[in-house]
Amino acid sequence: MILSIVVPCYNESEVINETSRRLISVLEGLIKKEMISPDSFILFVNDGSRDNTWELIRKLYKENKYIYGVNLAGNVGHQNALMAGLTVAKDMSDLAISIDADLQDDVSVIEEMVKKYDEGFDIVYGVRKSRQKDTFFKRTTALCFYKLMTGLGVKSVYNHADYRLMSKRALEQLMKFRERNLFLRGIVPLIGYNTTCVYYDRHERFAGESKYPLSKMLNFAIDGITSFSVKPVRLIFGAGVFFLIMTFCAFIYTLCSYLTGDIVAGWASLMLSVWFIGALVLISIGIIGEYIGKIYIEVKDRPRYNIETILTHKE
Ligand code: UDP
Ligand code: MG
Repeated sequence: MILSIVVPCYNESEVINETSRRLISVLEGLIKKEMISPDSFILFVNDGSRDNTWELIRKLYKENKYIYGVNLAGNVGHQNALMAGLTVAKDMSDLAISIDADLQDDVSVIEEMVKKYDEGFDIVYGVRKSRQKDTFFKRTTALCFYKLMTGLGVKSVYNHADYRLMSKRALEQLMKFRERNLFLRGIVPLIGYNTTCVYYDRHERFAGESKYPLSKMLNFAIDGITSFSVKPVRLIFGAGVFFLIMTFCAFIYTLCSYLTGDIVAGWASLMLSVWFIGALVLISIGIIGEYIGKIYIEVKDRPRYNIETILTHKE
């Protein structure tokens, strides 16, 4: 069986040689143990880097038969670059592992991942056992984000990023998700099949800086939420209903004030109409939002199901 390791790279010239060295040694180890075919390979995807990452990939390709490369014409972002790599790797291999270029994820669990594949798992998530090396800020925001996503009804694996193994058939199902705003760690759990986790300690970036500054991280989080949940729209509707109830309470209050004679002229008509119209507007937006949410889900054209096996008595 042919294993491919897909590595998206954006301005990673400082780490790529070391990454390639370590991945080759893992690959050679597995080949020696006859766990994978000697045709296995490492696929570097250059995501429109501005430094000499692509030149380095070409050099590595010339020097080593295990190194393959894909050069994207421009920067499309981590998720899209990864998807491009997986699309290319799928046709040439039986299983693919995706990993970041910066060696933050422990390459020594690749063997364990492959073993899990042998045991019949189609998707193996790499999960960070500890995140001591990550900043307090990154750890806390990651936890809050995970809680928020779970609250919104989105399934995802805690402390798992994009370090995972996928079988060919899982990759084929993944390709059926045609959406542009990719949030792979939310999509992959929708595939189904047998899944499991392997655990590792997260290291510090080997060299260079994070390619995910705060702004990109925020965009990614917003993508994650809005690509998977239309629940925020329901909040608008909820607010509308809340204001409607408030209008009703205010109405009762004015009625009582009127009966006791303790009322300021003009107050009731002004306040009640402002609240009432406000509530109506919010409810209307909420209803329109529900329809837009439905349109949104339809245009994503996600697969409805993934048939794993069919039993029939026909030939
Ligand atoms: N990356 C990419 N395109 C981008 C940004 C990042 O291909 O536009 C790659 C990057 O080279 C790395 C991976 O995505 O292999 C994860 O990025 P990074 O390690 O900087 O993120 P962090 O670990 O800080 O979240
Ligand atoms: Mg990293």
